[in-house]
Amino acid sequence: MRRISIFGATGSIGQSTFDLLMRQGGPEAFHTVALTGGRNVTRLAEMARALHAEIAVTAYDECYADLVAALAGSGIAVASGAEALVEAAHRPADWVMSAIVGAAGLAPGFAALSQGRTLALANKESLVTAGPLLLGEARAHGATILPVDSEHSAIFQGLVGEDIAAVERIIITASGGAFRDWPMDKLASATVAQASSHPNWDMGQRITIDSASMFNKALEVIEAKEFFAMSPDRIEVVVHPQSIVHALVGFNDGGLMAHMGVPDMRHAIGYALNWPARRELPVERLDLAKIGQLEFRAPDPVRYPALRLAREVMEIGGMAGAAFNAAKEAALDLFIAGRIGFLDMSRVVEQVLDEMSARQGLGNAAMSLDNVLHTDGEARRLAFALCDQKRI
Ligand code: NAD
Ligand code: MG
Repeated sequence: MRRISIFGATGSIGQSTFDLLMRQGGPEAFHTVALTGGRNVTRLAEMARALHAEIAVTAYDECYADLVAALAGSGIAVASGAEALVEAAHRPADWVMSAIVGAAGLAPGFAALSQGRTLALANKESLVTAGPLLLGEARAHGATILPVDSEHSAIFQGLVGEDIAAVERIIITASGGAFRDWPMDKLASATVAQASSHPNWDMGQRITIDSASMFNKALEVIEAKEFFAMSPDRIEVVVHPQSIVHALVGFNDGGLMAHMGVPDMRHAIGYALNWPARRELPVERLDLAKIGQLEFRAPDPVRYPALRLAREVMEIGGMAGAAFNAAKEAALDLFIAGRIGFLDMSRVVEQVLDEMSARQGLGNAAMSLDNVLHTDGEARRLAFALCDQKRI
């Protein structure tokens, strides 16, 4: 029986993964090793019982007692905290879903790779923060990373059977997020509630706001550079409001292979779960005639400064990805807390990058898990300090 774990099981990707596992036979078909979550211990316990998990882990020590109570009598082990997440990732498993949101997903994902597991990677932040480290760990231990981000899954599928040397470019589509048609002067006063509603995809709040600001696409460009070892000038972004074409691979004969489907993450998750086979998935089938038209346009650099920042990060290299992602996460925390405006997020990130690269030459630092986490912490502190000192 295949042994599986889900990190971030209670989130949007985690729940979709759970849904697919249950449809594909649940505890009769899979041996569930670890399920992890945050504060929603009721849901975590329900899922752990449904899949007969070995262990359920909450990221927060203060939630431990509630999780123990929710799992009383089940025989399922319970643990809490960041170290427990890493320990859970060391448990023998065949397939591990990495769906924690943010850089918090890095250490458990790294731990799973160190054990040679197949890692289904939704947590793009870990590739942005420490791509070379993760890929190196996977190589060293014979582990496999399968992309779960819809664009990267689409590219991955487009490359099956192809010679990577014949790939000229990859094109990632972006819906444009909640504000793609808003007048620029209204963006400064956009609220958290407005930014938290995505026109096409139903996702966690943080990635939904990142879609409105295009920081999500900025992360994805860097993710593509790392995962497919593609030079940045070969990675393009095109705004595609319908989110039907998820990405395209362009070959040296001028042909473009597009991956299309309804915006439902169960496709990319299911592909990673059943890879290298394909299995029937419960996703709605596309009716192209009903859709009628697909639109594409170039992203507006004034509306979406995050894309320019991603290019700068790739140019600097080294630790810039860690600083960028952490500054972005801190700026998002500040926006959600009502302390800065929507447009201030990219200002905070840009200033953190400028100050940190001037001070410590981000591009030159050697990469280890320790100094990645150190850079991450510094970037977060600086972002909060910029806000406290009203320097944005
Ligand atoms: P979410 O907010 O819905 O869920 C996040 C999960 O991580 C929850 O289980 C939560 O309890 C856990 N978590 C949060 N903070 C944590 C911490 N500090 N330590 C440990 N666990 C923590 O997020 P999501 O939308 O499911 O996204 C998960 C990941 O997948 C992100 O990296 C996101 O960028 C990526 N992703 C999501 C989608 C999508 O459709 N939702 C699409 C592509 C990629
Ligand atoms: Mg995506």
